[in-house]
Amino acid sequence: MGIFTYADLANFFPNRYIDRTRFFKINQLQQNSSEVQIVGKITSLKTVNQKRGSRLVATFIDETGRMELVWFRGMKWLKDHIKINTPYVIFGKTNWFNGMYSMPHPEMELLSEYKKNLRTAMQPIYPSTETLNNKGFTNRVMQKAMQTLFTEVNGKFQETLSDDLIDQLLLLGKNEAMFNIHFPKSQELLTKAQQRLKFEELFFIQLQLIRKKLLKKTNIKGFVFEKVGQSFNEFYENHLPFDLTNAQKKVTKEIRNDVITGAQMNRLLQGDVGSGKTIVAVLAILIALDNGFQATMIAPTEILATQHYNAVVELLQEMPIHVMLLTGSVKTSKRKIIHKMLENGELDILIGTHAVFEDKVKFNNLGLAIIDEQHRFGVAQRAKMWMKNKLPPHILVMTATPIPRTLAMSVYGDLDISIIDELPPGRKSIKTVHRFDNNRLSVFKFLRDEIAKGRQVYIVYPLIEESKTLDYKDLMDGYESIIREFPLPEYKVSIVHGKMKPADKEYEMQRFVNGETNIMVATTVIEVGVNVPNASVMIIESAERFGLSQLHQLRGRVGRGADQSYCILMSGSKLSSDAKTRLQTMVETNDGFKIAEVDLKLRGPGDLMGTQQSGVLNLRIADIVKDSMLLQKARSVAIEVLKNDPNLSKTENRNIYNTYIEITKNKNIWANIS
Ligand code: ADP
Ligand code: MG
Repeated sequence: MGIFTYADLANFFPNRYIDRTRFFKINQLQQNSSEVQIVGKITSLKTVNQKRGSRLVATFIDETGRMELVWFRGMKWLKDHIKINTPYVIFGKTNWFNGMYSMPHPEMELLSEYKKNLRTAMQPIYPSTETLNNKGFTNRVMQKAMQTLFTEVNGKFQETLSDDLIDQLLLLGKNEAMFNIHFPKSQELLTKAQQRLKFEELFFIQLQLIRKKLLKKTNIKGFVFEKVGQSFNEFYENHLPFDLTNAQKKVTKEIRNDVITGAQMNRLLQGDVGSGKTIVAVLAILIALDNGFQATMIAPTEILATQHYNAVVELLQEMPIHVMLLTGSVKTSKRKIIHKMLENGELDILIGTHAVFEDKVKFNNLGLAIIDEQHRFGVAQRAKMWMKNKLPPHILVMTATPIPRTLAMSVYGDLDISIIDELPPGRKSIKTVHRFDNNRLSVFKFLRDEIAKGRQVYIVYPLIEESKTLDYKDLMDGYESIIREFPLPEYKVSIVHGKMKPADKEYEMQRFVNGETNIMVATTVIEVGVNVPNASVMIIESAERFGLSQLHQLRGRVGRGADQSYCILMSGSKLSSDAKTRLQTMVETNDGFKIAEVDLKLRGPGDLMGTQQSGVLNLRIADIVKDSMLLQKARSVAIEVLKNDPNLSKTENRNIYNTYIEITKNKNIWANIS
């Protein structure tokens, strides 16, 4: 259970509590009552042999009636140790069996012992494993261990917060909180103990993150991009294809302000699909170039990298800037040229996939790295890039997966965050509906009407790693039914999936992009980034199998042109309640942040961030979803404390300082997040 020291034990908190204030009499038992506690005596014990094994049965009485206690295991020990006609407190679930109540494997304690123990209103139940239980390390043993510890410690836990904070926030002191989390004297004190310990946990995480952010600002030097120069101005004045939205202007300014400070930029740029992150990236790149640096832009897939490349080349076509693309499928001869041009500084911008992280790729002077859809990359991969320079490049991470505020605060608390919260003008919001499989004919009719208007359609099938063959079959079956419904020569259908060669994929994709085909049948390979403004319908098959953020990403493929766009979620009729919530949420809102909040609630934080980062959120007692108010409080308090005392050197912050040092010394698990 990760318990090695007394401190580990003391900080091992119950995950629930059972009310043991109430005692039942045997004649008060109900057939469906939950766990009950009764005082009585055992009058006799007998072993009953049955077909498979045997059981030990005790007759248990109080002044109102009679019941049975039953054991199937550990009978020998019990027979030797149970005291007849001596008052016991028993606790457990009861069954109605053979006209009598019985309690299997009750928790038992002699009444005399029971009275001596540290008595609590709520009985703590500790997290455990089956193995531990089977080996006899039951909840009772854990409670005993805890009792021994607390008797020894006798209220000598170090206070970790300052008196000021405790007063201001009306928190319990450390000792009282620790005692009441393990041995709650009342429901009220338990609640207060939980509040205090949750606050403390969140506070110290925030303190570390914010301090780290401050240290980075002062300690990690970065290149100074002192001027906005010729390329930027030339582009901005003569080649900008549209007016920037206010949000785009705002985040461009935020980036600009970062890169002149002399500290390394670590910025997360969040913007919903279609919000126009690419142009912001290009503007940032131009600032880097204007100051004599190279820039790179890295995407998670080849298709996406290619699309970025095409977009950047198109935007910069009138300007004397060298841009190249490096992906896994670039030939060796071409690679050599890229490597050389990079090293001698001839190449200004390198766009690519993780191929850019390879050791052979050496920049002459990389000043800015833009990473798209960062959740696809390992932290280690990114860190490699830093080594290639005397100073680390400025880093701009772009993501279209909106990260809920609470999560952003805990996981990215040490990054600066920019948000594009406004879509380019003229976009119509996408209409989303949910249809069952048996409405398929009317859906097809709708498609014919849209295609007749010159629109294009995506039909997406799920692709889930563990059942690739099944998904492939679904996709192929779907494809065949589509070409039956939409036959040549009137209709042309493209198909793209993971089993195709990159070149074939590219070819099919390109046909759709060029408007040569009306329908694109695909797996989720089109999930990110692909941009076809004329596509106005997104059909998602087996939508119940997709996660919320994926549904939202997919929907973002349409609604990029001036026409009304639609998203149709197809599903079977049997839906889990989570699936219903997901589909419902999609129908109700287009707001990525709202969707992310629901997603976080449904899936929990660990899952949402992927395994890489989930360790960060292995909180002992707080829960960033349920305790989001407390999290915000903890963050603002941590900011306040550090504002007044950046090094925690003031006497009143001594407790905080000591704890901080202790935490960072032991395991600085929050240290390497970004
Ligand atoms: P994303 O944030 O999803 O990467 P893109 O950068 O691909 O979004 O932009 C989506 C589309 O919107 C592109 O076709 C782009 O040219 C267009 N676009 C971006 N910004 C604006 C703007 N300010 N005005 C009009 N169109 C814009
Ligand atoms: Mg994009």
